[in-house]
Amino acid sequence: MADRVTTEGAAAPEGTEPKGVALYHDMRAEEDFTKCATRLFSILQKAAVASPSAPRRLYLDVQGHRNAAGGYDADAAEIIQEFLLGYLSPYLTEIRTPLYHARNPGPQREDIPDILHIQDRGREHAYNHHELHVRNRDSHPSTRRSRPPVQAIADYLGLDEPTCLICWQTPVERAHVVPESLGGSNDVRNFALLCTCHHREAVDGG
Ligand SMILES: [Zn+2]
Repeated sequence: MADRVTTEGAAAPEGTEPKGVALYHDMRAEEDFTKCATRLFSILQKAAVASPSAPRRLYLDVQGHRNAAGGYDADAAEIIQEFLLGYLSPYLTEIRTPLYHARNPGPQREDIPDILHIQDRGREHAYNHHELHVRNRDSHPSTRRSRPPVQAIADYLGLDEPTCLICWQTPVERAHVVPESLGGSNDVRNFALLCTCHHREAVDGG
């Protein structure tokens, strides 16, 4: 963990711009480049539909993709450098990852494509996010009224113990990916775990 590059020191001053929507994702071990890219794209589309033109801030961790040297493997580096910075960044206001903290210098674009095209080792694939298979441990996710327990979220995210997505500290709080005020559900898939400090920092203005 000593090799983890923290982005906290680069945090923008609070209150200097409109509150927006925070998007979280942790690239788990079973996700390769294509799966992770498809998932991130789906999260982006969901947020754009729920809250059009609100500033979108993406928080990505890659806990399942550390290599033996304590850095990150090729899939994680490609996701961050090629997909996030090279493709997705125009549609976001800010990107935070263990490797980079980037802010979009221009206005965030809203013309998000319907379908993500990924070129993978010379083969062209078209991924429709509606066909994306995600793990689902709720029996009735669309009708769930109460929030899932912290441990259920940790299990879903593949965490050994519930730690903050950004700084790995404990204890954690449950953070909606798409806020309830913007139509976000209490499905376990709509939650990330954040410490009190980062939850407050990332909270939406809905
Ligand atoms: Zn934290």
